[in-house]
Amino acid sequence: MYHIRVETEFSAAHRLFHYNGKCERFHGHNYRVRVWASGKELGEGGMLIDFGILKSALKKLIDEEFDHQDLNQIAELGEDPSAERIATLIYSRLHRDFPSLPISAVDVFETSSSMARFVPDAWPDAR
Ligand SMILES: [Zn+2]
Repeated sequence: MYHIRVETEFSAAHRLFHYNGKCERFHGHNYRVRVWASGKELGEGGMLIDFGILKSALKKLIDEEFDHQDLNQIAELGEDPSAERIATLIYSRLHRDFPSLPISAVDVFETSSSMARFVPDAWPDAR
């Protein structure tokens, strides 16, 4: 099995309504996002997929929907836009818009020491 990863960052604000602690107040994070793709077979150029294709798919999504946003305004994230829910939504959007990409995990870091990972039940293992 091969695994590749691309990474980007974005800044956004949120608050967690159903949390009793600091995160119930409106605040911001510089989120780091890592998107993994996995598969058993290599394609053209000895690559699982071109890093550039995965990077541009992720950049387009982050620029259009997440960067410098109030995450509480994104309906799919609900009233508690946690790192777990952000990771799930990034996976769903990428899977919807780029179904041929064999995305196997999405990691979202709220800080350098706190990360949530979403792993789909099954990922396309096309190549
Ligand atoms: Zn927070």
